[in-house]
Amino acid sequence: MKYRRAFFPGSFDPFTKGHEAIVHKGIMLFDEVIIGLGSHSNKTPYFDTESRKAHISSLFKDLPVKVIDYSGLTIHACERYECAFILRGLRDTKDFQYERSIAQMNLEMASIETVFLLTDLTNSAINATIVREIHQQGGDINKFVTNAHLLVK
Ligand code: ADP
Repeated sequence: MKYRRAFFPGSFDPFTKGHEAIVHKGIMLFDEVIIGLGSHSNKTPYFDTESRKAHISSLFKDLPVKVIDYSGLTIHACERYECAFILRGLRDTKDFQYERSIAQMNLEMASIETVFLLTDLTNSAINATIVREIHQQGGDINKFVTNAHLLVK
């Protein structure tokens, strides 16, 4: 059977327990999941990119998961890493409305299908922007991020 590789793109600043659960579900469906940290030339991430990569890798040791960073269009990264699928997590209808347009346009442009997985109840309120704000104000983010100590500001 054909090797099925999925690309899971995101800012992952930081990679939360919500993202982590989506990847664990993803590897039950795909042979391999490539986690792609997207970067924008005009936006500096809150947590250092190398520490985010090391942090994510620490969560999936011995599993068919790779972590890379990329810039430019997600469909181009999918082509480069030979991923026929994009994996995305959905928390609510707001996520869905935004994701639907992107998914349909990616399908039109590159024949890449997007597979959506619903978040678990326990992770559905976790939002990376809020996690960053908690961290910035000196709060503890360990409830929302596994191995948070590996992240460097
Ligand atoms: P982006 O800035 O591209 O939305 P994120 O890092 O915020 O990047 O999220 C990447 C992917 O993870 C998206 O598909 C998003 O919907 C999903 N996601 C974010 N938070 C959660 C969560 N708590 N549970 C499940 N999926 C999530």
